[in-house]
Amino acid sequence: MPGSSHRRFNPLTGEWVLVSPHRTQRPWMGQTEAPAGPAAPPYDPDCYLCPGNHRAHGTVNPAYTHTFVFDNDFPALRPDAGRQTSDSDGLIVAEDEPGICRVICFTPRHDLTLSRMSVDDIDRVVRVWGEQTVELGAKDDINAVQIFENRGAMMGASNPHPHCQIWASRSLPNEMAKELAAQAAYRSKHGTCLLCDYLRLERAAGERIVFENDHFTVLVPFWAIWPFETLLLPRRHAGAIDGLSPAEMGGLAEALSALTIRYDNLFETPFPYSMGFHQKPTDGAEHPEWHLHAHFYPPLLRSATVRKFMVGYELLGSPQRDITAESAAERLHEMPATHYLDRRSPQA
Ligand SMILES: [Zn+2]
Ligand SMILES: [Zn+2]
Ligand SMILES: [Zn+2]
Repeated sequence: MPGSSHRRFNPLTGEWVLVSPHRTQRPWMGQTEAPAGPAAPPYDPDCYLCPGNHRAHGTVNPAYTHTFVFDNDFPALRPDAGRQTSDSDGLIVAEDEPGICRVICFTPRHDLTLSRMSVDDIDRVVRVWGEQTVELGAKDDINAVQIFENRGAMMGASNPHPHCQIWASRSLPNEMAKELAAQAAYRSKHGTCLLCDYLRLERAAGERIVFENDHFTVLVPFWAIWPFETLLLPRRHAGAIDGLSPAEMGGLAEALSALTIRYDNLFETPFPYSMGFHQKPTDGAEHPEWHLHAHFYPPLLRSATVRKFMVGYELLGSPQRDITAESAAERLHEMPATHYLDRRSPQA
């Protein structure tokens, strides 16, 4: 099986990925991306996230020194959405969706990234994620708190200033709903946690582990779709970031630093990705089946300029990958733990 086409099952979503390891040598004549632009300056007077600058609607950012949280000026979800539903024979169905969108700046420094921030400063960000999860999750109408970061122009990030977003909604988004059903079904069948059991198998096998400390494991999941996709798992069963101890939050900060440095080193470029945390629903139930985790979905395939596309068979059939999860994990694991020297000239 390892060298020939096969498919792998994702127990978190119930979906399959096609793996074609024999195809890794095929020539690439497709689109290439522009290499990353010049390095950003520490402060950008035109950036709407830098301290002291003006945002939309005339708001002025405070002179913040570490993290800064504010309600998104152009939110995708609004708290004042109604409570209407419409349903025509179960075929044309819609419902109002109230929610709250926030932005969290990781640091006042416009030129930094998670990979270039100190672990102590990332730890402050982790604590803010926990606080925001508690604050937003406590609201009656909020049942899902989705924290995510888009990094890099390739991922559509609108501003290089290091920041993430939180979209908190009444309904569970699709991915969360699939994972909730899978984790609940696994628990009722086996009486144990899906991701606790999976983590035990992966640690015994060792071949897909990228990084570990006392509290967190970073691995390329067996069912990964993106070439260098990873999954971050707390070793102890916890459902949300606010359920982590201070030591575990520190472990998460260290794991985020270690992983993002290895990503940047892989192609010696600021590595683009979408990442985010999947936390248990904040609907008031206990959710013992839910195991907190983070997904990193980076698009780059073989260099700083060649990315993977999800088209053709992947849109119409199943996702497909060429390099195996095992070889991706091995390459990431072998990356230096210190950052490569960025030779780009600073932005004018
Ligand atoms: Zn900025
Ligand atoms: Zn667990
Ligand atoms: Zn997930």
